[in-house]
Amino acid sequence: MKRLLPLFTLLFVLVTFGQNSNRHTSVKKVLKLMGSRFEITVVAPNEEIAYVNIDEAVMEIKRIEKLISSWDLDSETSEINRFAGIRPVKVSPEVFALIERSMKIAEITSGAFDITYASMDKIWRFDGSMNRFPTEEEVKLSIVKVGHEKIKLNAKASTVFLPERGMKIGFGAIGKGYAADKAKELLVKKEVLGGVINAGGDLTTWGTKETKERWTVGITNPLDKEKVFSWLPVVESSVATSGNYERFFHYEGKKYTHIIDPRTGYPTTGTRSVTVFAKKAELCDALATAVFVMGRDSGIHMVNQLDGVEVVVIDDDNKVHKSSGIIFNKTEEMN
Ligand code: AMP
Ligand code: MG
Repeated sequence: MKRLLPLFTLLFVLVTFGQNSNRHTSVKKVLKLMGSRFEITVVAPNEEIAYVNIDEAVMEIKRIEKLISSWDLDSETSEINRFAGIRPVKVSPEVFALIERSMKIAEITSGAFDITYASMDKIWRFDGSMNRFPTEEEVKLSIVKVGHEKIKLNAKASTVFLPERGMKIGFGAIGKGYAADKAKELLVKKEVLGGVINAGGDLTTWGTKETKERWTVGITNPLDKEKVFSWLPVVESSVATSGNYERFFHYEGKKYTHIIDPRTGYPTTGTRSVTVFAKKAELCDALATAVFVMGRDSGIHMVNQLDGVEVVVIDDDNKVHKSSGIIFNKTEEMN
């Protein structure tokens, strides 16, 4: 049985706000990591402890960034890519395991999530400079190096081999979630009551607020990014949103967004935002991207088969669709 995720409205948050006096303090630090805005919130017995813990979380995230970033030429990811078509590359057990999990998610999502997306030719531009639609041939050619099933893993030797020159992997759709999970893993063991690691929209929580309330997340109203249209509790679990409200182009009456289907080479259409709920931020992150690619119906259908995973999809008409475990207390349609 899937666990039901009841939805609590803003009212719930206001009603419970201010309950309980507390001896803990909540500290939030905002900083740029992994090319994104991170917010780290820690609830600790005092400010000093909170800051020490936040610093440790930051160090952990920077360590992961160095390991997997595609921008860092010394990262293991860059080394794997550099030796594509040449030879297997020995990697840390951590990166090996991340690749293994990424390949499993690629299987579950029938390739909608695929770390080899990174070799796709950049034939689509979302900065307003597209003056013609690429030809079918160009689109086909853009994805010839893509294919998670081509990656060769050797667990014994801890090596990864991309067998074709020009193949590339990238953790853009899973790395931030992974970093959030790892930072949380570190802090859970510490002298803190709770916290939130928000890695550019992929977030994970543990414990409670200083008021002993549970953490809630608001789903952004795609029509107005400053507004939240509904709140959901996130207890010892994670949420990630994929969405793009700015980077898209119109062609013959259709709207194309910047997330490209690695199986077809075409940009996705029809979806405005996807929010995934699950235990681990890593899975949320990857599945949010995957559901975006799969589209509303296939995406929700897939999530309905997965235990402990839920999804809310907002389509281009601002209609809200959800997996079977999400319960809205009131109609949340936006017009
Ligand atoms: P997200 O914001 O989590 O949806 O991730 C988007 C980023 O993931 C993009 O900027 C790319 O770096 C990467 N990406 C795009 N499409 C895919 C895909 N189909 N599979 C895996 N990663 C992708
Ligand atoms: Mg993602």
